[in-house]
Amino acid sequence: MKKVLHIGIDDTDSLKGSCTTHLATVIINEIANQVDFLDFPNLIRLNPNIPYKTRGNGAVAIRVDGEEKDLENARELVIRKVKEMAKLDDENTNPGIAFLSDEITSAVKEFSKRALWDIISIPEAEKFNSFANIDLVKFGNGRGIIGALGSIGNPLNDDFTYEHLTYRSPEKYGTKRLIDRDSIIAADKATPLTFSNVDYDYNSIMITPRGADPVFTGIRGETAEEVMKAWCIIKPLEEITMRMIFRTNQHTNQHFVKEFKINELKPHLSIITQGKVSKNPYYIEGSHLIFPIKDNTGEIDCAAYEPTKKFRGELNNLIIGDEVTVFGGVRPPAEKHPLTINIERLRVDILEKTFSYENPFCDECSARLKSAGKNKGYKCHKCSAVYRNKKPIEKLVPRKLALQEYLPPIIAHRHLTRPRSREKRDNSNKQKSKEDVNKILNLLFSSSK
Ligand SMILES: [Zn+2]
Repeated sequence: MKKVLHIGIDDTDSLKGSCTTHLATVIINEIANQVDFLDFPNLIRLNPNIPYKTRGNGAVAIRVDGEEKDLENARELVIRKVKEMAKLDDENTNPGIAFLSDEITSAVKEFSKRALWDIISIPEAEKFNSFANIDLVKFGNGRGIIGALGSIGNPLNDDFTYEHLTYRSPEKYGTKRLIDRDSIIAADKATPLTFSNVDYDYNSIMITPRGADPVFTGIRGETAEEVMKAWCIIKPLEEITMRMIFRTNQHTNQHFVKEFKINELKPHLSIITQGKVSKNPYYIEGSHLIFPIKDNTGEIDCAAYEPTKKFRGELNNLIIGDEVTVFGGVRPPAEKHPLTINIERLRVDILEKTFSYENPFCDECSARLKSAGKNKGYKCHKCSAVYRNKKPIEKLVPRKLALQEYLPPIIAHRHLTRPRSREKRDNSNKQKSKEDVNKILNLLFSSSK
């Protein structure tokens, strides 16, 4: 009788050139002839604001079924590959693997949901597992078990996207990625269900990462077919060793779960908070924009940093009294700044009215009056009439902001940021049948296009 196995893997990457998706792709290729896949591998991005992660905080869940003996072989292969390929000599690389052969309980789902926005310690994850009783394998300090549990517990039942990843030949790691730029533009134009391939405002290609990792390209989109179609149009100018399609919570805003009062904000949380702008925005050294917001519990600085480009200029139009909802990460205080919200997106809820004042007109000759001096009323320069009690004319000044959400340009988006192009999605993406998944995965194994 066939059994199900969920395999969660996290924290195998390091800045020195490894990547959890790459390792997962190697594993998937190797176990493909022993098991069937229940889904595309899931790439689950967790709280992007936790401190230990220099990169995207992404974990992978592989969901398979097969005969018990084959699943046992798969389990051993996963452990062996993590040992072989993870940068275990790097003290910041502490892999964890989770194997779950039962149903994903609501407790595991809850744990997973919390890992999207909160900070979970290793002892907490271990305590959780003393009840959940999931088969965990740890390396180093074992921090990876948090993401491993977090990934298996997130079956992506709500909004999700796809990413088609390709990988480079190892001798190319750390070198410039060679790719035909025009073909990327052509692919972008031909596939409306892909997104964020290019930031045209900043003339920037977004599908090629910059780091020393094995990823050559990542194409994001709404369907598996569409990301494959885009890749078919793109012309790589170097060898591609493997490719894989991940189903993922990237670009869904899934980490914005919980609303906080200002006095509840703690470093490294991903948060939603509402407040009133309590001081007009101002720029600080480095061209970062800062403004504080206030609610009935406290006040906190919000920051739009230099890399968010024109986002800063938009938010600079906020004024005291505007009511906003801020979505972002909490940055711990340091010598040069207090506890601060790093703004990832901002919704304007209520705009304060602002007025300009002009001198009134003369009742006798209709000329514009002049001030007669401080608190002395107005006088007419044409007919010399004097008005003690006239009031200035009040005019409503149009605001440059609207009641809507503002977010940084694509070049400054993080993995979980939902781009504007996805805002109108109705979340009607349907998961593919097991048969379709295995058909597509077989195609990915057999050809690089
Ligand atoms: Zn007059």
